[in-house]
Amino acid sequence: MILITGGAGYLGSHTAVALLKAGHEVIILDNFSNSHHVTISKIERLSGKDLAFIEGDCRKKDVLDRVFSEYEVEAVFHMAASKSVFESNASPLEYADNNITSTINLLKACSKKPVKQFIFSSSAAVYNPANNNNLDEDTPIDIKKSSYAFNKYACERLLLDFSAVNPATNCYILRYFNPIGANPSGLLPENPKSDTVNLLPAIHQVALGRAPELVIHGNDYNTHDGTCVRDYVHISDIAKAHVAVLAYQSAGKPLVLNLGSGQGLSVLDIVQAFEKVNGCKIPYRFGPPRSVDAPYLVSDISRAQRCIHWSPKLKYTEALKDGWFAARQLT
Ligand code: NAD
Repeated sequence: MILITGGAGYLGSHTAVALLKAGHEVIILDNFSNSHHVTISKIERLSGKDLAFIEGDCRKKDVLDRVFSEYEVEAVFHMAASKSVFESNASPLEYADNNITSTINLLKACSKKPVKQFIFSSSAAVYNPANNNNLDEDTPIDIKKSSYAFNKYACERLLLDFSAVNPATNCYILRYFNPIGANPSGLLPENPKSDTVNLLPAIHQVALGRAPELVIHGNDYNTHDGTCVRDYVHISDIAKAHVAVLAYQSAGKPLVLNLGSGQGLSVLDIVQAFEKVNGCKIPYRFGPPRSVDAPYLVSDISRAQRCIHWSPKLKYTEALKDGWFAARQLT
């Protein structure tokens, strides 16, 4: 049985579908702080399989005791977290409590059971990019710019220490870049309860007529058109990487993997491509740059290609189409 904490969320739901389709048994633990109950039945519908599900908070010992006593958990994908860089700086203690406490309690629960694999959802937000080169996993870390980056790196460090004293559990750290899009059925839109500052949900708000224009933060960066460059990758490809990672036996230190496309696209590139593939206009204006934004954050995915034989198959234009189709199903 594979446990996905935060499995009702954006990444978790797509990963659950991919794992179920690959023949794995899945249990989801989620407190629905940033997701919706209906997602559970949608995962079952899309995969054609039943899944186990417990509503609860992964900071709570009694909840974790229930999960680990009722199910024989062999692998854990720990995705449950609060994920807004901006909110993390406004509410650092709440963020640390949710993101770090849940990881500590989950690792404690795992240490008492024969859990073979623990896979932690980290982020490219931990990197300190010095220039416009693609980032490999040895890029220096910078946890000063946000509490979110600090939380993620603190958990990575906990995993390193945990793996040293729990050699029977293979540990993995996945540093995602910018997952976008949705399952082509439209059933699993990115639909957070908290305000999101991610680019695609903001573009959808404008396309749906709920916001008058897109505000692009900064147009004087050292990039090809002055706007920030990021690495957008289809969520369905990211979901498949989670299936692939289970086949890799990482003995010793945690295996750290970048999951991205390796392709850099600016905010303006994305706006223009969105308009072209979806046939709608996105009015925008430039606002002031934000202190947490790096000009260029693009992955080198050669380690993922080598170790788990994974590389993304879908183009970003597919993701722009699928994401917009799913966003329209919410109206
Ligand atoms: P999400 O908010 O859609 O999903 C997280 C899920 O965890 C939600 O369903 C939420 O209800 C649940 N949750 C939160 N705290 C919980 C708790 N204490 N107990 C139980 N459930 C809890 O976020 P996502 O985009 O799916 O991200 C998943 C993971 O990937 C997170 O750890 C996030 O930091 C990381 N990540 C996401 C991105 C991205 O762009 N989406 C990029 C880098 C890293």
